[in-house]
Amino acid sequence: MSIKFYNTLTKRKEEFLPIIKSEVKLYTCGPTVYDTAHIGNFRTFLFEDLLKRFLRLKGYKVIHVMNLTDVDDKTILRSNSDNISIHDLTEKYIELFFKDIQTLKIIPADHYPKATEHITEMIEMVERLIKNGYAYKSNDNSVYFKIDKFDEYGKLTNLNFTEHKKTQRIAFDDYSKDNPQDFVLWKAWKMDDGEVFWNSPWGKGRPGWHIECSAMSTKYLGNNFDIHCGGVDNIFPHHENEIAQSECANNQKFVNYWLHSEHLLVDGGKMSKSAGNFYKISDLIDEGFTPEALRYLLLSGHYRTNINFSVGKKHEALKVTQRINDFYNRLLELSVNCDKTGGLPDEYNSFEKALDDDLNTPKALAVFFEWLRKFNAKVDDNSVEEKEILPAVNFVEKFNSVFDLLLKKSDIPPEVMNLIKEREEARKDKDWAKADSIRDQIQKLGWTIEDKPNGYKLKPSLEK
Ligand code: AMP
Ligand code: ZN
Repeated sequence: MSIKFYNTLTKRKEEFLPIIKSEVKLYTCGPTVYDTAHIGNFRTFLFEDLLKRFLRLKGYKVIHVMNLTDVDDKTILRSNSDNISIHDLTEKYIELFFKDIQTLKIIPADHYPKATEHITEMIEMVERLIKNGYAYKSNDNSVYFKIDKFDEYGKLTNLNFTEHKKTQRIAFDDYSKDNPQDFVLWKAWKMDDGEVFWNSPWGKGRPGWHIECSAMSTKYLGNNFDIHCGGVDNIFPHHENEIAQSECANNQKFVNYWLHSEHLLVDGGKMSKSAGNFYKISDLIDEGFTPEALRYLLLSGHYRTNINFSVGKKHEALKVTQRINDFYNRLLELSVNCDKTGGLPDEYNSFEKALDDDLNTPKALAVFFEWLRKFNAKVDDNSVEEKEILPAVNFVEKFNSVFDLLLKKSDIPPEVMNLIKEREEARKDKDWAKADSIRDQIQKLGWTIEDKPNGYKLKPSLEK
């Protein structure tokens, strides 16, 4: 089955064919680490995780690079207002970012290059752009990209910039640029930048945001690679400018497929770090969401449609993920004495086909749940044949390799594990009062323990 992705560059669904047959090179714009990443950012990061997991399911090796923007206007502003060095500020948020990545079971990228560790590559790229005639130094010692030198400027966004050029010139009062739409590659040092600067052929300064991603993606993935992702707000100007810089510096097509995810709305409205109306992952975990419930809510909408997040959806998401876990455990119990035969049920093809079609997660989930419902009913009335059981286990595991909604033992927090051990001891000593009080403590931590003839079963509680 062939894979189709909607390519923002061509504005249509296209068959996906990587440059190297069995390998996909993927670049995703990472967080600007001046604050904690919010649930909206994680919608995009989870879409990228799903894309990567799906490509792996299809047998590709994925080489994934995600940058960390640890110097730009926002990081400098924040380090000044918080009176903390930019290094200490960004390290703090990088650490929190990795913690959230782990909580949400996002498969880590192969490389997380930091902008501040790749200044040499950025300077080198700006030098090449000047040499190729696409950039110029202004009288304040900044360097700009000359957009009217690049005929294809605007091809990602579908905007015709040259038409506006002459009229806008009149109203333009920053005479350091040749054209108001020229964008900065290298920013000359200003008082507000304080200690944040690097030496360059144009004097003290720092890179512009767009050149960071062009230089780092090229370094780790080459001049031309397969997929570049981000949220829709990255399309313009960030990705449009990345294309201009990379193609003019390297004289070669930059990226073959551009995939963008729509925004996450909260309670029907737009959220942004600057507006301050964002939920952090840790806030939501404190509210009683499990990582699986969050994954489910953020992955159940198609990536090219808005998702409306609200805390009120918690109960439903917990119920859905609990249902998958219960079903899987039920299958495992049934499979104990099964012969080892593999295979997959027919419905699996429809599941995979839905994902092949531009990652249609709502359809893939609908196929999966419909099959789960029918299979459960068959188990209930004892009409499941033995040969159907292992294929069913395989389906859930393949499903989970993409969505990761099953709870693993390792997801149980160590404090809960310790309490379970203590409770087992109390039960051995027939100290039922103590065992019950430990059960309550476990419950308070968000877990329900059920005793079984040969052990126990642990589930995340639906509500804390
Ligand atoms: P930033 O840290 O602002 O550079 O953003 C990191 C990533 O999150 C980028 O790919 C953005 O496009 C994406 N992003 C930012 N806000 C949202 C949102 N509300 N919904 C989905 N993605 C977002
Ligand atoms: Zn970027």
